[in-house]
Amino acid sequence: MPSPDTSPSHIDSSTVTAVLKRVIAENGRDHIWGYAIAIVCLVIVALSTSFTAWIMKSVIDEAFANRRADVVWIICLSIFVAFVLRGFAGYIQAVTLSKIGNNIVARYQRRLYAHLMTLSVGFFTEARSARIAAQVSQNVSGIRDVLNLTVTSTARDMLTFVSLLGVMVYQDPLLSCAVLVLAPPLLLALRYLSKRLRQVTKESIHLNSHVLGAMQETIQGISIVKAFTMEAELERKINKIIAAAEGRSNKIARLSERNAPMTESFAGLAVASVLAYAAYRAIYNNVPPGAFFSFVTALLLAYDPARRLAKLQVQMERAAVNARMIYELLDMQPRQRDLPDAKPLVVTEARIELRDVAFAYGNDDVLNGVNFVAEGGKTTALVGPSGAGKSTIINLIPRFYDPKSGQIMIDGQDIAHVTKQSLREQLAYVSQQPYLFEGSIRDNIRYGRPTATDAEIEEAARLAYAHDFILAQPEGYDTPVGENGVTLSGGQRQRLSIARALVRNAPILLLDEATSALDTESEAAVQKALDEAMTGRTVVVIAHRLSTVVRADKIVVMQQGRVVEEGNHEALAQRRDGLYARLNNLQRPAASDTN
Ligand code: ADP
Repeated sequence: MPSPDTSPSHIDSSTVTAVLKRVIAENGRDHIWGYAIAIVCLVIVALSTSFTAWIMKSVIDEAFANRRADVVWIICLSIFVAFVLRGFAGYIQAVTLSKIGNNIVARYQRRLYAHLMTLSVGFFTEARSARIAAQVSQNVSGIRDVLNLTVTSTARDMLTFVSLLGVMVYQDPLLSCAVLVLAPPLLLALRYLSKRLRQVTKESIHLNSHVLGAMQETIQGISIVKAFTMEAELERKINKIIAAAEGRSNKIARLSERNAPMTESFAGLAVASVLAYAAYRAIYNNVPPGAFFSFVTALLLAYDPARRLAKLQVQMERAAVNARMIYELLDMQPRQRDLPDAKPLVVTEARIELRDVAFAYGNDDVLNGVNFVAEGGKTTALVGPSGAGKSTIINLIPRFYDPKSGQIMIDGQDIAHVTKQSLREQLAYVSQQPYLFEGSIRDNIRYGRPTATDAEIEEAARLAYAHDFILAQPEGYDTPVGENGVTLSGGQRQRLSIARALVRNAPILLLDEATSALDTESEAAVQKALDEAMTGRTVVVIAHRLSTVVRADKIVVMQQGRVVEEGNHEALAQRRDGLYARLNNLQRPAASDTN
């Protein structure tokens, strides 16, 4: 839905219609039989309701005016049957609609997840991930509600209302006119309320995602929070947001329920005037009471569907706001696609070459004309002050982002012209923060290569010095890790992520060495695991450990998005005034002191 303004405040009836059309187009066909059953049931509900109102005239007249016991008996039986029918039809309708609704929710959840997978890495760092999470969990129901509201309100409430209105007009046209004159002002008042509600609903959704986001940040950074004793300050801040969100939600409740007192008073007025008029006619004109009772029954029964119909616009808009947020997400285009002429990457030596690569996140230039070669089967270490652009280079090689200009070549092929799938299959990546996913240890290693056998997984774990600690876990390789699993130490997690990279058996390894300190024993094990992972591969490593740098075949020294020096450790350390020599001395204060 390419609407120019996508903020929820701009939801108007045309947007609601557009969303409704799309929801129906995408779901209507698959559930057409379910909806047909539901609609038939709703028609039965509507008709049996009006039937009970209509038959009241006969009950009263036959019982009180004509005193026909035999007829009254049949009429009462028919009322009973009407109620039974109504009960069953209502049940079938509710179950059918719920089933369809649940199916729609599940389907959109699947679709959203699959779609999120296609979006580029850049999307997730820019967009607030909490907002996405909130959208996925809360707003999918909007699509279900849009459909179900349409079906129930048109089929049941509309039909019930119209047929009851028919009964009313049939039984007493004059009174019906009086009621209808009173209705329009009420509807106008309701319209005004619904407009106010739209605005606060939007604000509330915004505030709620703010709350979620702030909480998520706190949870992720809990060690920083504690270390800097930020608890009180953060709590004060978040309490303010929570209070604002609570206020908004209360306002929504007030506004959406405000029409209750209004319609209630209106109904009271209507019933009282009708009764007065009927009493007057009975007393002075001797009109039999049957028609009047039937009319009042219809009026009272019409109240509920009328109230629901009055609320319909508000509910529909709320559902449409939610549904549209889902569509906004689904309509987001993956920013990078494979070029039409993209070919699979063919790796021979796995030689990586950066030619004049420039890159910017947004408008800030991060890399300016970067040139270097990472030779096949050799280790190239990236060093330099933080912010120099080292991680950015690591992000460009798997094409998480594309360079602004220049090329990255692997074995003579420009990676912009190969398929991303084939490119990433040739890469293994070990990040600074080892990330484990929901599942067992075995699953987590197998993510490296889904076709790996159990034997290959154990072999990788051995090479990564993880086998022994894995066997010591309660269920060995089947021990669950991730959010709901066992807690592993930082070093153990790192070794698992190295095992994952090893099992992938890719010719190129991208490595962001962990800066966080591990205990000496873990450190040694991780180092040995990394050595294993690095042998025989083209490695591009953001090096933080001196030992890695010293042993690298080539060191690329970066500063402010440029390569300032290149060479091996001995050569670079010789250049007294070079950046590398200075950095090197910083890392070895004792050595520089003795100079
Ligand atoms: P290094 O790894 O050498 O520390 P980075 O490549 O991480 O350097 O960062 C280079 C510059 O790019 C820094 O100024 C950093 O603030 C900026 N930067 C890094 N990632 C992003 C991002 N996702 N969005 C915007 N700017 C970023």
